[in-house]
Amino acid sequence: MTTTEPLDVQPTPLALLLLGREADPRSERGVDCPGDLPAASDPDLVERARAAKAKLGEKVFILGHHYQRDEVIEFADVTGDSFKLARDAAVRPEAEYIVFCGVHFMAESADILTSEAQAVILPDLAAGCSMADMATAEQVAECWDVLTDAGIADVTVPVSYMNSSADIKAFTGRHGGTICTSSNAKRALEWAFGEGEKVLFLPDQHLGRNTAVRDMGFSLDDCVIYNPHKPGGGVTVDQLRAAKMILWRGHCSVHGRFSLDSVEDVRARIPGVNVLVHPECKHEVVSAADQVGSTEYIVKALDAASTGSAWAIGTELNLVRRLAKAHPDKQIVFLDKTVCFCSTMNRIDLPHLVWTLESLADGNVVNRIQVDKDTEHYAKLALEQMLALP
Ligand code: SF4
Repeated sequence: MTTTEPLDVQPTPLALLLLGREADPRSERGVDCPGDLPAASDPDLVERARAAKAKLGEKVFILGHHYQRDEVIEFADVTGDSFKLARDAAVRPEAEYIVFCGVHFMAESADILTSEAQAVILPDLAAGCSMADMATAEQVAECWDVLTDAGIADVTVPVSYMNSSADIKAFTGRHGGTICTSSNAKRALEWAFGEGEKVLFLPDQHLGRNTAVRDMGFSLDDCVIYNPHKPGGGVTVDQLRAAKMILWRGHCSVHGRFSLDSVEDVRARIPGVNVLVHPECKHEVVSAADQVGSTEYIVKALDAASTGSAWAIGTELNLVRRLAKAHPDKQIVFLDKTVCFCSTMNRIDLPHLVWTLESLADGNVVNRIQVDKDTEHYAKLALEQMLALP
């Protein structure tokens, strides 16, 4: 079957208006652009971005995360997930300016992995990540005190998802842990259980639970949730001592929206559909899916899929729409019926990109993201541990 059927979900004008504007106020830190932002209605925006980029030449390298808007991806020198992009930046030492079209923690990781001579720039400082913001340095330090008082800190290894702040990565490095991505979470957990008896998994409970239970054979009873908003994490000392996986109570507001109903509904609508979801989705969604994988996995799975096959994808909508466009010979639909963009990622739009590139072309380095030396040192330890995973 060959189909060019459009995606089920198209953003409404209202959704587009709201997109990236106060849809996720906890992570949009209310930072106004410090310069003269061009109007979104300026008909010359594309031309201006092109001209500024051409003027900068090799000096600038633009990274575009998979979930970014089309209008921004258009100008990316490379696209990918956050870790791939940070590594791509690190092997471009000739680029003085790394413009990261992603969110805050991604720019921090790029700053950690790139050289002193390179400036990493986030076109809109309000582009945070709701998941990363769910674990602050103070909360995590308090959690470690709770584990210490319970007598289990010595046998607990922190494993932090790439989607965390530099502070949390540094905490992980200080306590002998590792970073993981959604592609290598299983290997990270296997390593961690070789080093200790328990894992403190930060900040995404779903990736931690899905990996432990689905990929490694732990039971749901082996997992306990630590809620930073409750005294003692809302769990008893006995529960902490009995648990193998101590899951931080964090989640992605985008992937957390997919439900078991969306899976059942799409299976009823499209017989034979392959349901492929990201491991940041809830456990019940992952359990009901046919395949589970990172954004890179999703991209490759659809590249390899046979003509005429049908796919329902549970990840951010910008990526799903682009994949559907790139594979007109396959039926690719979005798993949910509601619009599901990463609102903070979408704060980065063409006006912010134009303002950033034109400022750089004029010699003004704007919105630089810099991680302090001490944090960088320990965060790097945790990142290097990930790179050394067997
Ligand atoms: S999709 Fe989720 S985890 Fe990724 S940047 Fe957006 S809020 Fe954060």
